[in-house]
Amino acid sequence: MTKVAVLTSGGDSPGMNAAIRAVVRTGIYYGMEMFGIMRGYNGMLEDDIFPMNSRSVANIIQRGGTILKTARSKEFFTYEGRQKAVANLEKRGINGVVVIGGDGSFTGALKLSTEFNIPCIGLPGTIDKDLYGTDFTIGFDTAVNTAVEAIDKIRDTADAHDRLFIVEVMGRHAGYIALHSGISTGAENILIPEAETNIEEVIASLSEKEKRKKLVNLIVVAEGDEFGGANQIAKIVKERLPHLDTRVSILGHIQRGGSPSAMDRLIASRMGYHAIESLMEGRHNVMVGVLNNEIAYTPLEIAIREKQSISSDWLRIVKILAS
Ligand code: ATP
Repeated sequence: MTKVAVLTSGGDSPGMNAAIRAVVRTGIYYGMEMFGIMRGYNGMLEDDIFPMNSRSVANIIQRGGTILKTARSKEFFTYEGRQKAVANLEKRGINGVVVIGGDGSFTGALKLSTEFNIPCIGLPGTIDKDLYGTDFTIGFDTAVNTAVEAIDKIRDTADAHDRLFIVEVMGRHAGYIALHSGISTGAENILIPEAETNIEEVIASLSEKEKRKKLVNLIVVAEGDEFGGANQIAKIVKERLPHLDTRVSILGHIQRGGSPSAMDRLIASRMGYHAIESLMEGRHNVMVGVLNNEIAYTPLEIAIREKQSISSDWLRIVKILAS
């Protein structure tokens, strides 16, 4: 393994730069030639590939976003597109690719390896934490901290006005940001795609708490919950409990941005280092994850296929702590 390229693909997440830095510097340490590919698989297709050295990744560990940019590529879904992309790798003699992204990006990487025999390593770069085989994904911790900071502020104003705020956080298919930020901010209810919501129970608990004058001012909803997000929940609550002063706040893209937390920088650095080690040891087509604080390798097809389950304990904690 002498020539390795790195790319970021799919949705961006804070900490991707720290991962790029770790991949490039570890590769150089071991005498590899390193390349960056711009805008995910688009750059591979359009031959936007350039050599990287230690200096190319200077002063980026603290920066959000990704210096390699990220994108989604329709053409890469086709075999002909992938053939074109691989030709650009082959003409430079690139014989290993590190893909930083989510499950879609890993599916692309798996195709590169099965169809064209290009060894690939996946690093989980997504704020959603929706990949099997890792306790953390790069960007998740920062996204949760951003949400917590924003929700704390909303709570202050909610409290001052005795308002109920329904706050929507990111997570189309995964409720981890909602769960972690909701528990950390003392939410009354947390609504996530992985668990069925009994809306009658939510209404009943709001009115019961109102009766005993317990201040209830926060519900956290993942954007992909079964009702379709905070606006839909607010509509139901307003219909059923019209006297409550109910407001909605949708946090949106602030959750993707910002300087990565120490935790995200740390896991990105560890994962980037192990991506190169893994290629050198011939452990190909795996995702590098962290399980119980140990580095864990999961075959890409399993990381994509298996779903993380949310233990019912989590929701029980929410219920008990909000009583
Ligand atoms: P996020 O979790 O943030 O959405 P992701 O990696 O899942 O990130 P996707 O948009 O699903 O993001 O995928 C990124 C890119 O990976 C796609 O634009 C495409 O180029 C490639 N890709 C995804 N699925 C496939 C597939 N089935 N075959 C080939 N390439 C794919």
